[in-house]
Amino acid sequence: MNSPKLFVLSSVAGGGKSTLIQKLREKHPEILFSISSTTRAPRPGDKEGVTYHFLSKEEFEKGISNSAFLEWAVVHDQYYGTPLKFIEEAFQKGASVIMDIDVQGAKIIKEKLPKKIVTIFILPPNEKEWERRLRGRGTDSEESILKRIKNGKLELERQDEFDFKIVNDDLEKALNELEKIVFSNSN
Ligand code: ADP
Ligand code: 5GP
Repeated sequence: MNSPKLFVLSSVAGGGKSTLIQKLREKHPEILFSISSTTRAPRPGDKEGVTYHFLSKEEFEKGISNSAFLEWAVVHDQYYGTPLKFIEEAFQKGASVIMDIDVQGAKIIKEKLPKKIVTIFILPPNEKEWERRLRGRGTDSEESILKRIKNGKLELERQDEFDFKIVNDDLEKALNELEKIVFSNSN
């Protein structure tokens, strides 16, 4: 990869971003994953410093004051942000980075670094399957699921702001499409 890029995946909760990023990185570990910071509580399966950096509200707000985030947003009532230092260091090494952030963050980051960013929206195949996957994941309370579905409907309205869209019906097919986008936009 000659020119490192930042591949930004967004979707509704349960759209399949994390699954696709994990699968892509199993095949291409040279693409680095940007670990976000968040104030939300860890869910089953979360690991500090692997899935997220879990911060208190005070720690996160200090990070905002110190310009430690490339972008940050309030999503589902919690802070989420992209640590700037990691992205700078990856680019210095010539490494591309993949990350998942919400639609507000994707817009901010695209405006900040237009030539370095490729934005991709992941779509569930239909509403019924989307809800099935979200519930089937078994990591969210019913209240949180209902909030994510409500937010998700607003996020779906913004899908055309993205450079690419992938319908995540068959996982292998969606992964193939993601690989094609990544490798054809890395120069
Ligand atoms: P997100 O990171 O966008 O919130 P996840 O990657 O956690 O979404 O996916 C939500 C759930 O759907 C997970 O349980 C995952 O295993 C499942 N899933 C993802 N993609 C597919 C697919 N193509 N077919 C069936 N299940 C899928
Ligand atoms: P979750 O709590 O389900 O892991 O993530 C909730 C939402 O926050 C998802 O849409 C996810 O993409 C988004 N998100 C995760 N990290 C960041 C980040 O660093 N910045 C922004 N803006 N959103 C993020």
